[in-house]
Amino acid sequence: MIRKIPSFIEIYKSLIKIPTISSTNQLIDQSNKNFIDLLSNYLCDLKFSIKIDHIPNTNKFNMLARIGSGYGGLLLSGHSDTVDFDENTWTKNPFILTESDNKFYGLGTVDMKGFFACILEVLSFIDIKKIKKPIYILATANEETDMSGAKYFIQSNIIQPDCIIIGEPTSLELINAHKGHLSYSIEIIGKTGHSSNPDNGINSIEILHNILEKLLDLKIYLKKKYQHKNFSVPYPTMNLSYINGGGAINRICSLCTLNFEIRPTPGLTLTQIEILIQAKLQSIMTRWSNRIVIKKLFASVPAYECCHTNKAIKIVEKLCNLNSKAVNYCTEAPFFEKIAPTLILGPGSIEQAHQPDEYLDTFFIQPTKNILNKLIYTFCY
Ligand SMILES: [Zn+2]
Repeated sequence: MIRKIPSFIEIYKSLIKIPTISSTNQLIDQSNKNFIDLLSNYLCDLKFSIKIDHIPNTNKFNMLARIGSGYGGLLLSGHSDTVDFDENTWTKNPFILTESDNKFYGLGTVDMKGFFACILEVLSFIDIKKIKKPIYILATANEETDMSGAKYFIQSNIIQPDCIIIGEPTSLELINAHKGHLSYSIEIIGKTGHSSNPDNGINSIEILHNILEKLLDLKIYLKKKYQHKNFSVPYPTMNLSYINGGGAINRICSLCTLNFEIRPTPGLTLTQIEILIQAKLQSIMTRWSNRIVIKKLFASVPAYECCHTNKAIKIVEKLCNLNSKAVNYCTEAPFFEKIAPTLILGPGSIEQAHQPDEYLDTFFIQPTKNILNKLIYTFCY
């Protein structure tokens, strides 16, 4: 058989070579266009049809490749972007795939360009003439920042695969649930004055004290009400992460800020959390109207769960001989579930994601190819 695309290593090298850093810092943020074009070219050579969508108001793109027609089938999904890196902590060149000690080093090797290299390798050996249901390959943009790629994908594509697999590094464990994430900043604008007379001003730290009491009440309420035994930390968590304010000892503090995050379990929606926060802080907000500003810090991600009784989950569990489980990090799954049951299963460990000298352990490569092969033959042949 003649290969239609380069070898696994050559492809992997070429994917790592193209920087696709996503960052909320505009100075660092990069377009993923070259990466999407390269991936599209490989898939085009394998006879896939390609659709590239521009994400509005960005320089980012999603790519959906398809082979085979009709309903159902399998969608394999990964994000095209990586996080930023700190050159002082890396000992290797982040953009040169380096193999040593049975590890492939480079930015995005594990999170998650290695998954695409595995997919392409498997696809180069399948018999496309016998495909009965479509195989879709999706590469999304901006997963590491606001997940705008995944959000745009579900608005801009009408497809209904039988199952979606996101190849995030799960150490090849099957993940069917994860917590969500919301983060807020509360700014309190008091009024300064000399400390010798408290009536001269409005102390923002005292207002924050009242707010903290309410938030800690909410923390206890969430823990009691939304238990979820599948998680290692089996309840929603709240973390007060940052506090800033104040100045001279003899001045009434005018400004202070609190940042906090909540990680909901499945069953607790983003809207419910917002309503709960509003209800908790209502009386304080009314008393100090115009003095309290609540802002979201990062784009929120809902919690996710694909029910154990779902048909797709049963097929994949049986096929891979794995029981699905829950994790504490977020993925694009809650957006994709509107299209199809979504599971997370991919090579390498999450421990190496977003780390200096990020690597994919070569141990994962062959088993990943075997699993992808089985999934494709089960869902598409
Ligand atoms: Zn990732």
